[in-house]
Amino acid sequence: MTYEDSEIEKLWETVFATDKYRVMIGDIADNYPQKKSVEVDYNDINLYDVAFSAYLLEEPDRCIEIAKRAVMNMVPNIDRPGQAINVRISDLPRDAKVEIRNLRADHLGKLVAVEGLVRKVTTVKPRITHALFRCARCGSEIWVPQTGMIMKEPLMCNNPDGSCNKQATRFIEDLKASTYIDTQKIEIQERPEGLRGGSQPERLIGYVEDDIAGLVTAGNSITLNGILRSQEKSDRDKSTVFETYLDVISIEFEQHEYDEIQITEEDEREILSMSRDPNLYSNIIRSIAPSIFGMDDEKKAIALQLFGGCHKVMDDGTSLRGDIHILLIGDPGVAKSQILRYMSNLAPRGIYASGKSASAAGLTAAAVRDDFGDGRWTLEAGALVLADKGLACIDELDKMTDQDRSSLHEAMEAQRISVAKAGINATLQCRCSMLAAANPKYGRFEEETSIYQQIELPPPLMSRFDLIEILTDKPNKARDQKLSSHILATQLRGQARMLPEGANIDGIDVEDILNKTNEIKPIYSVEMLRKYVAYSKRIVPVMTPEANKIIQDSFLRIRNLGSGDSVPITARQLEGYVRLSEASAKMRLSNRITEQDANNAAELIEAYLNRIAGNGDGTYDIDKISTGISSKDRNKLDIIRGIMNEFGETGLKMDEIMLHAQNQGLSDSEVERAVKTLNDGGELFKSPSGIYKKA
Ligand code: ADP
Ligand code: MG
Repeated sequence: MTYEDSEIEKLWETVFATDKYRVMIGDIADNYPQKKSVEVDYNDINLYDVAFSAYLLEEPDRCIEIAKRAVMNMVPNIDRPGQAINVRISDLPRDAKVEIRNLRADHLGKLVAVEGLVRKVTTVKPRITHALFRCARCGSEIWVPQTGMIMKEPLMCNNPDGSCNKQATRFIEDLKASTYIDTQKIEIQERPEGLRGGSQPERLIGYVEDDIAGLVTAGNSITLNGILRSQEKSDRDKSTVFETYLDVISIEFEQHEYDEIQITEEDEREILSMSRDPNLYSNIIRSIAPSIFGMDDEKKAIALQLFGGCHKVMDDGTSLRGDIHILLIGDPGVAKSQILRYMSNLAPRGIYASGKSASAAGLTAAAVRDDFGDGRWTLEAGALVLADKGLACIDELDKMTDQDRSSLHEAMEAQRISVAKAGINATLQCRCSMLAAANPKYGRFEEETSIYQQIELPPPLMSRFDLIEILTDKPNKARDQKLSSHILATQLRGQARMLPEGANIDGIDVEDILNKTNEIKPIYSVEMLRKYVAYSKRIVPVMTPEANKIIQDSFLRIRNLGSGDSVPITARQLEGYVRLSEASAKMRLSNRITEQDANNAAELIEAYLNRIAGNGDGTYDIDKISTGISSKDRNKLDIIRGIMNEFGETGLKMDEIMLHAQNQGLSDSEVERAVKTLNDGGELFKSPSGIYKKA
């Protein structure tokens, strides 16, 4: 089916004559250039003429050009060269939606809808579309349309009066009176949902012009409707291989979080029946990385994180974070990376990134000047921004850059990142939960040293985590037996699963293998669990008085356990209790936080505090987390400081310090540790001959 220009024009005129578009175009006529786009809903064309709506997807350049002409005819007062009205078509049908990785040569010149997360945006810059020149001789005006990168000048004066026709060679640009539009280059990448199986996300560049430039920012989840075009890779060598980009016609923002997860009525029935299963909790925990053995506490914590607490906005506009942050610190080879990768795949909007990522944006965001912007500044989103409303799984957190180290506090607590540099002034949202993994300070945990001293993260950062889990790898006969059986069974099941159907190997019963290793299969499929989680986001649970009491009692009890003048627990942890208990209720799809939920939260937090801040005698010392130094250690440090003040004028050797400290009840290893702390902190200075002096 093909159409004559005149037919197309007639079709558009009929569409634009309907009330909806007459009003819209009238508004543009009155308010130009504040309003300069007709926003056409594809469905209106489809309702009106199915065949033409299909043709529009095939030949968008021609159809839209004619549409613009039709609109211009309806708005006679806009007639300056270069002044145009855009026709922006949105809400394209399902068959026009293409994933970035599926864009092919066939799509060139076609109207397509591409979904993705905005990874980079350049600053908005004007581009001249029609340059005004004046003849240096007769002063007549000459408009030259500009399309390429280099400014085109008029070749001759075309003054119709004839006086200087063809003779003038000098023209004066009038940049002020020329016509410009805003332009912006953006890059989107596939949403994590499109990426099952851990493949790298594909990216697409989009050019945005005029009134839709500057609308999006890094981290937004959007649909770009536009025409796929090709351009040569570089101007220098004439290559036959082309890069593609999208000439953007319209932008749609995602309406609701978790939109990308479709829940049918049948799903809903299944979700509700799952929620009534008495084994719901253990089923969910058993569906989290079943190929990873053990880690029961960690999986329980991660399950709660998956559901998350509730984001709250208070009367005065302050907002309270609902997302739960968890840190796993452990010896190498305990499956930290594996569980992170699993969760980034399972969680809606999960992103996996490493702390030592190569991208300029790092974990948060950055303004950079690189090839992408052709000399313009570009705002680039890092993992936490791309995981907005999802789960950011950050591996090797201890290896992050200093820049990330300083911006991570804001990102984790306020859940936004501000970038102010070189004309870019943006606040990016990163309303995500963070599941991070790190190695202990010396690579693996040393038994002699207390745990908190082996966590090499800035204390303010550590206190942002609701839970910190410690994973040690010590030989343990019984556990090693079970662990190795589990890993071998996982491998065996994997082998059996990969066999072609009906394969027959002597002495091997494939059915039997699959049956015997059935426990490695998740109880709820990844698909189903993801739907369940998405469904739970509709629920806002409320604390019952009984649950409230349990949480308050636990909080006050721990606070009273503080040794000496240290503060054992802070309000941050109290908020953690609430978030975890909310998550526990959401897991059941219940809008009441019960005693059971409060106990779930209290157990996890008490166990965590005991591991990290326990003094070994039933008391806690959260100062260890918030400052890195416990109050007991602080006393030890003071003893050493006192010794150095008293005897340290000329310097002391380690064994001399030990001798003095012995009288005050410090063991040699305690002295060694305290001296090292002061040395690391710059208070003491060690000479090459091993003599300590006050710095
Ligand atoms: P990490 O990141 O903690 O250094 P990895 O996630 O890279 O460790 O794990 C190393 C390997 O050891 C993985 O392939 C994993 O399968 C295996 N492994 C370690 N602990 C377990 C466990 N508890 N259950 C199953 N596999 C495990
Ligand atoms: Mg690892």
